[in-house]
Amino acid sequence: MARNRRRTSRQQRGASAKVAQQHLIEILSSPLDHHHEVVDSAAVHLMKISRRHRLSIPSESRHLVCRKCWIAHSIAGRVRVRIKAGQRTTTCLKCGSIRRHGGGPKFHRSNRGDV
Ligand SMILES: [Zn+2]
Repeated sequence: MARNRRRTSRQQRGASAKVAQQHLIEILSSPLDHHHEVVDSAAVHLMKISRRHRLSIPSESRHLVCRKCWIAHSIAGRVRVRIKAGQRTTTCLKCGSIRRHGGGPKFHRSNRGDV
């Protein structure tokens, strides 16, 4: 009689994880509509869900969470962004972890031809 208790299949779990991920990303993307605690717990949940289900976080949403300490980076004042030598440098103001995006120190020079 109890055979049909587990109605959600593996596939369905993966799908609902994606829906949850999308929902958390929405919260993270609009931090002004939510309390900071909500946004922060959304960040933690997003990282946990993505790990548990081995989902990758969409590249356009990766900047929303610190990969090291898992705080929401979408909240103003949590992160410092600088453009340095053609790279975008993101510094987490809580744990101090630095991430660099794009280019590289010599990337922007390749076509310059300065002597
Ligand atoms: Zn951090």
